[in-house]
Amino acid sequence: MNSVLKISNLHVNVGETPILKGVTMEVRQGEIHALMGPNGSGKSTLAYALAGHPNYIVTDGSIEIDGVNITEMEANERARLGMFLAFQYPVVIPGVKVADFLRHAVSNIRNPDRKEGEGLMGMREFRKEIRERMNELGMDPEFARRYLNDGFSGGEKKRMEILQLAMLQPRFAILDETDSGLDSDAVRVVSEGLAKLSGPQMGVLIITHHERLLEFNPPQFTHVMLGGRIVETGDAALAHDLHANGYADIRARHPDAAAENAKAEAAAAV
Ligand code: ADP
Ligand code: MG
Repeated sequence: MNSVLKISNLHVNVGETPILKGVTMEVRQGEIHALMGPNGSGKSTLAYALAGHPNYIVTDGSIEIDGVNITEMEANERARLGMFLAFQYPVVIPGVKVADFLRHAVSNIRNPDRKEGEGLMGMREFRKEIRERMNELGMDPEFARRYLNDGFSGGEKKRMEILQLAMLQPRFAILDETDSGLDSDAVRVVSEGLAKLSGPQMGVLIITHHERLLEFNPPQFTHVMLGGRIVETGDAALAHDLHANGYADIRARHPDAAAENAKAEAAAAV
């Protein structure tokens, strides 16, 4: 059976401020969805709310995986149900190597009831698995011995993201890719890595404006967010059109949402 991530009428506040104002979307395992929209429209807010970030408060609506309501679940519980969010700004964890981090992460997902210090995946089995995944992705095995995110270039951070995806094999992957600060090497790493990893077992929601990412991973669905709502949904052609022509037409077609977006942008600029 294909799993379904179902977002219904989702309203999300950051503090007292309503940001998402009724988002409805369904992502099935095996589908690629692109989420686009101008700055301040609420794309990252949706990603954080899906991942269960505590600062993003759901005030109405729900998030379900296969009919199980996950709206109130902690982030780690959601991860165990197969949700993966590649954070825009990954943290630096001094003294923890890439391989150690992944061995713990994989053990947590596969053995949810394990207590800290117990039930860690066997070293030999883990090494074999990570070597295979890195080999498939064309990664240098030396990368697994690096300290996590410590001095990583943009491209290396993306390699880490893709390697996590390969090891965790989530049912739903949400990738929030900033437009600024991603060099062409980083964009290539994500584009090619995702193209290798996605398939019938993975539902993907890509937040991006990068033409290249969507070229390598053509979305079946493109959603456009404006003023905290999804105002239009189309196919890959819509993504190409937005990339080529920007959001002026979208704003003109949805003046109320455009006005709310302008307010949010002005508030953010203060
Ligand atoms: P996008 O990712 O589409 O650029 P965001 O989801 O980051 O949009 O932001 C949507 C709106 O929510 C903006 O007005 C932004 O200022 C506000 N916002 C998002 N996160 C926070 C936060 N942590 N604190 C205050 N305001 C926030
Ligand atoms: Mg964002």
